[in-house]
Amino acid sequence: MSNKPPYIADGCPDPKLSTLAVHAGEDRLKPGYAITDAIFCAATYTFPDSQAVLDFAEKKLAREEYGRYGNPTEKVAEQKLAALEGGQAAVLYSSGMAAVGGLLLAKLRAGDEIVLFDECYHRTRQFCKQELGKFGIITHQAPACDYDRMEAAINRNTKLLVSESPTNPHLSVVDLARFAELGRKHGVETIIDATLATPYNVRPLEYGIDYVVHSCTKYLAGHNDLLAGVVIGSEEKLAAVRDLRGILGMINAPHNFYLLLRGLKTFELRIRRHNENGQALAEFLASHPRVERVFYPGLPTHRDHEIARRTMRGFGGLLTFQVKDADWRRTADVVDRVRIPRIGPSLGGVESIIEQPSLMSYHNYTEAQRNAMGIHDNMIRVSCGIENPEDLVADLAQALDV
Ligand SMILES: *Cc1c(COP(=O)(O)O)cnc(C)c1O
Repeated sequence: MSNKPPYIADGCPDPKLSTLAVHAGEDRLKPGYAITDAIFCAATYTFPDSQAVLDFAEKKLAREEYGRYGNPTEKVAEQKLAALEGGQAAVLYSSGMAAVGGLLLAKLRAGDEIVLFDECYHRTRQFCKQELGKFGIITHQAPACDYDRMEAAINRNTKLLVSESPTNPHLSVVDLARFAELGRKHGVETIIDATLATPYNVRPLEYGIDYVVHSCTKYLAGHNDLLAGVVIGSEEKLAAVRDLRGILGMINAPHNFYLLLRGLKTFELRIRRHNENGQALAEFLASHPRVERVFYPGLPTHRDHEIARRTMRGFGGLLTFQVKDADWRRTADVVDRVRIPRIGPSLGGVESIIEQPSLMSYHNYTEAQRNAMGIHDNMIRVSCGIENPEDLVADLAQALDV
């Protein structure tokens, strides 16, 4: 197979996002002349003779050797993801958390410090404090989007600034230019987990962010049927990250590369509908008498609406709202009356999903801890799928109408 540049879809000098989603990273002619990429169920790859072994060892021959280091379909998916994000290279992992963990482990050593915005994914915060803490890495947290507090936490040992944007479940939106500038000013690298945004809605590398992370489990694969994660950045910065993944074996399964590629073909179409549904449902909920507050960056009432408007092409399919004068039980009643979204964790798939964060992801925290994190008993999070927006609005309307 050729090693042509991943950005170029054949015959198209300046491919746009949907063209890249369909074609980037793929050879025009594939094994068996199939239009789809093959699934290679191989733990090992063989050589025709010893000269080929030598050529591979001396990096004269780009190919696979052993399944822990790579897979041909994986390379296609990595190149497609890098092209969508506008990055040089991508490293795929078995899950979003494997990507976060793999990146941080590759970049940090004992004595290093990192600063996180406190609305980062709760497992990311837990990994940093509990697991990296065991190896003498110190984690500081600053309130989300409080750039002064983040800057105050930086010292000469600081190696990384980490945030999600938008955050979950509050949908805070980071001013990426300011975040990247903070890193540059102090000689510290920056990581943005842009899972909720996707490269359709925001392109962090264009603002000078060093690493973009996605849980591909969500919008990128998009069908609630696999786990995957990716880190995207420059070839040079990702070399050590890829090496460590090969040592730890956090590689995905052959079938998942195929499913991810299949999901990515419709990436742009899906995200447009997710954006449309998110905006429609957020506007409906904001005007409903039983709704106390809606968190959605596409609403003018959201704290970060101005930044979102400047930096995002759409505002995504995820929204959170609070039910007026409701305890956890009355809030659960609303969730239980909903007919289209299913009850469950996760987000970003074609099927809408609804959940009450205080019962689902945050149940093992005390009420005081939950309140400190802004997770209230009357909160409901909806991941809008790609169903019809009027149907989703009507469904939530009947669920609230008690
Ligand atoms: C789901 C999620 C993760 C973790 O990804 P997995 O694929 O579940 O391991 C990380 N960050 C964000 C923002 C997520 O939503």
